[in-house]
Amino acid sequence: MRISWSFGAWRPVLWRLPGPGPFAGGSPRAERVVALTIDDAPMPDTTPRILEILKEYGARATFFLSGCRAGPHPELIAAIVADGHAVYAHGWDHIRLDHAGPERLIADMDRCERLLARYRPTPSPYLVRIPYNAGWRNRTVHRALTRWHPDSQIVHWNLSTEDHLIASRCRTEADVETECRRESDRVLADPRLAGAILLMHDQPIGDGPGASFKPMVGPTLLRQLLAGLIAGGYRTVPVTPRRSQPLWARYAMRW
Ligand SMILES: [Zn+2]
Repeated sequence: MRISWSFGAWRPVLWRLPGPGPFAGGSPRAERVVALTIDDAPMPDTTPRILEILKEYGARATFFLSGCRAGPHPELIAAIVADGHAVYAHGWDHIRLDHAGPERLIADMDRCERLLARYRPTPSPYLVRIPYNAGWRNRTVHRALTRWHPDSQIVHWNLSTEDHLIASRCRTEADVETECRRESDRVLADPRLAGAILLMHDQPIGDGPGASFKPMVGPTLLRQLLAGLIAGGYRTVPVTPRRSQPLWARYAMRW
């Protein structure tokens, strides 16, 4: 375990779901729940398929929307909200907010949330997934988030599907199924799965090799994951914000 210190700047950083507590019976690992977090949404060629698959498996997800993608597709924001998924801002421009400076960070997050607030009330506490997770233990970023939303909490993850790398390994459509299977099998066999906050993407932002396979990756991987989770007796839940932050945790962040 490592500790990062600050003079009271740290927001809560969530790595996994809270356990059921000592009086709820069983250890946290005994509870078969997983929080699916889906970044970089929405996209017209993936989000509707992702929503269909979530519905088919009765799954709930937490979406972190990029304003630059959501702005031209308000119907997709409305569809995600209508299906009962949790929706939070992933910023507007998908830039490194740790390099942007506090004013730009606040403006970027605020522009995205003002768009989302047309479709659902602004949640409190407010869960933030920072683009590229850049600045999750940067004091300036945490202070800026406090200024933006005093009850903001950063959602990290303890398990990643590494789906942003899958398309670059594909040469044919059959490769997508195989490469997604490699990652879904790895995730489903991981001992940290119970109580996990799992990172995946709607369609990762950015170009690169295999870009033409990108729209296939999210839906293919999601179907494999959900089938495996259900077979393993897991249910999916939205990310649960921390109820409170102990005073010491503003000074010492354990990770
Ligand atoms: Zn992202």
